[in-house]
Amino acid sequence: MQNKRRIYTLNSLPPEVTAVTFAKCSRSSETFDKIAEELNEDKSRKFHEKWVVGYGHSSVAEHAVLSIAIENVSILATKVLEDNRLASYTEKSTRYQQFDKSRYFKPRLNEQLNKLYQETINLILDKYTELIPKMAEFIKKKYQSHTEIEIKNKVFDNLRNMLPVSVLTNLGMTINARNLEYAIVKLMTHTLKEMQEIGEEIKEAALKITPTLVKYTEYNKYLGETAKELEEETKKILDQVPESTKNVSLVEYDKDAEDKIINALLYRFSNLPYEKVKAKVKSMSEQEKEDLIKKSLEKRGKFDAPLREFEHTYCTFDILVDYGAFRDIQRHRIMTQTNQEFTPIYGFDIPKEVEEAGLDRDYIECMKTAKNAYRIISETFPKEAQYLLPMAFKKRVLIKANLRELFHFIKLRSSKHGHESYRKIAQDMYKELANVHSFLAGFIKVDLD
Ligand SMILES: Cc1cc2nc3c(=O)[nH]c(=O)nc-3n(C[C@H](O)[C@H](O)[C@H](O)COP(=O)(O)OP(=O)(O)OC[C@H]3O[C@@H](n4cnc5c(N)ncnc54)[C@H](O)[C@@H]3O)c2cc1C
Repeated sequence: MQNKRRIYTLNSLPPEVTAVTFAKCSRSSETFDKIAEELNEDKSRKFHEKWVVGYGHSSVAEHAVLSIAIENVSILATKVLEDNRLASYTEKSTRYQQFDKSRYFKPRLNEQLNKLYQETINLILDKYTELIPKMAEFIKKKYQSHTEIEIKNKVFDNLRNMLPVSVLTNLGMTINARNLEYAIVKLMTHTLKEMQEIGEEIKEAALKITPTLVKYTEYNKYLGETAKELEEETKKILDQVPESTKNVSLVEYDKDAEDKIINALLYRFSNLPYEKVKAKVKSMSEQEKEDLIKKSLEKRGKFDAPLREFEHTYCTFDILVDYGAFRDIQRHRIMTQTNQEFTPIYGFDIPKEVEEAGLDRDYIECMKTAKNAYRIISETFPKEAQYLLPMAFKKRVLIKANLRELFHFIKLRSSKHGHESYRKIAQDMYKELANVHSFLAGFIKVDLD
């Protein structure tokens, strides 16, 4: 009986007890349920204090998983939260839900600027509410065979970028205690008060079920002071006048991408050292290499990702994108992303259908009002002024992705079901990639329509 395979879950235990149960299997010959039987929350706490906190055996904390409901935080805050990539999120959709002026974040400015801030956002959100039926009328005429729900989605897709990033939203986050600890530290170290408060409140909620693992979180001097110093240094080193570029620029890539993939594929199925494989690949003909890549991809089904060896080559894109699409792109956690602060310097995008519907004057008026108020508020509160800006304004993000993730991203985000602005980014990324790697790009499922 002892050798019979057993597979079961331990989800009924408190998360910190689960973590200790798994940790103890490293030294104990007992079964998991037997180990768990002998534990309680107090014993688990002591174990974590000694091993995780005391000796820094942090990976144990990954077995304590929390699902945290976060309500009424700004859209700006959800992006700071979702920057923690080793976690899972679902956020209120701007396509399926309507927002209004009753719920937006109000940073503490001075009396005069508070007034300007609120008047500006009220005006923009009133206009957003006013344009919804007008946009619906236009969409109904344009897409006569569309269902009610399809029409509603199109209306919200067109107007979502009028929403300032201060509007409040809800976010579900599932994360393990090790990553949560880091997320809380980053929030507590953030320059904006809302993020610091969210950090404190997440900690308070998490302490109720993982009393030990997030207990020692606080402002991090290294992260906080280094960011401040680098911001100063950057101002000295770089010209701060922004330069417009095309929306998607492939700024770095491996010229020998195909070789890198083939090296890895042959390495995996051989027992030779990498250098030997590489030398052999160098002597292969172009045709032989292409045949091998083709063989490694051609049997993929509709939902199959390429083999993992396609992760051995990378591309870096500099992307100038409206905040609405940035929200979507940022969710791709496998990519390494570095994004810049939100400002109005790169201007804003207007959806084609807003122009076709003749609503562009109202739309542009809102953007101009936001930009003017931003200019005034940012003189005294440069960070807080970000909250004013509607998602139509553009920002820069640097994305480094391996080719396997690009297969996934371009297919998913160029699809017709997606929003026009991130579809365009995914399509442009594909075109940039095809310029330098036409053979490899040929295997990516992309919708260029
Ligand atoms: C049409 C559409 C509608 C959407 N609507 C919403 C919405 O209403 N609300 C919302 O919050 N989001 C929404 N999203 C975003 C979506 O939920 C994903 O967060 C986003 O598309 C990122 O894709 P991905 O999960 O494949 O992640 P990536 O980070 O690109 O990961 C690539 C792949 O790695 C694997 N992977 C990565 N991380 C994990 C993990 N932690 N666990 C398991 N596997 C992992 C998966 O196989 C994944 O496909 C929508 C996306 C689309 C395309």
